Amino acid sequence: MLEVDSLYVAYGPVTALRGVSIKVEKGSFVGVVGPNGAGKSTLLNTIAGVVKPKSGSVTLAGSKLSGARAEHIVGKHLSLVPEGRRIFGQMTVLENLQLGTTVRKDREQARTHITEMMEVFPILGRFRDRRAGHLSGGEQQQLAIARALLARPEYLLLDEPSAGLAPVIVDSVFEVLKRLHNEGVSILLVEQVAHRTVETADHSYVLQHGNIVARGTASELLQGGLLEAAYLGAD
Ligand code: ATP
Repeated sequence: MLEVDSLYVAYGPVTALRGVSIKVEKGSFVGVVGPNGAGKSTLLNTIAGVVKPKSGSVTLAGSKLSGARAEHIVGKHLSLVPEGRRIFGQMTVLENLQLGTTVRKDREQARTHITEMMEVFPILGRFRDRRAGHLSGGEQQQLAIARALLARPEYLLLDEPSAGLAPVIVDSVFEVLKRLHNEGVSILLVEQVAHRTVETADHSYVLQHGNIVARGTASELLQGGLLEAAYLGAD
């Protein structure tokens, strides 16, 4: 289990997280939704070790992650798809995908999975030899997700993967996430697209102004009106 306990994060005078606790059981699909500036990216970046918390802890299967260097965390157990699709623009699509498999030892299977990713995201197959920097934003997002998946992480962390994508591509992103979940990958999905996320995840948290203000299954959050309340109360 991935466990975040009482995380408190500040950027100088700006407090981004005010004692956030969440749990991602192994094999589960957990959503974190909330309005702009709620602290969603900060939460993921702190779990991945990119941002250091002021207090609180992140533990994975009982071992403390907080304080470990990002590169020791990401790649070993967790794979983060950051906001804003950081791909290597000068490298080809195929080279970007191959980079995603460098942490793996099963080279032969890794090659098969690259081919699989090109079937899941056909555009990546079509443009495999094209420089990634020449792809559109939506295509780059598909590449960023595919690359993270190729590390075959136990926990896949995604920061707003649907941002800026055409609806049909958003559908395929959610389909891929559901499939991975069925295959046993634990997923922590941070999104502004609240309804869809809550309906897809087993369990979701609503973040507002750095606090968890609601949590539950889709029916608990939707029937209780908790989701709307969090978004309406945000401004
Ligand atoms: P969005 O959906 O807009 O990405 P978010 O929910 O991911 O928002 P964060 O990006 O985590 O929210 O930001 C939380 C708060 O921390 C905001 O008030 C934001 O302005 C602030 N913040 C984030 N990064 C920094 C930074 N590097 N320096 C200063 N303040 C920051």
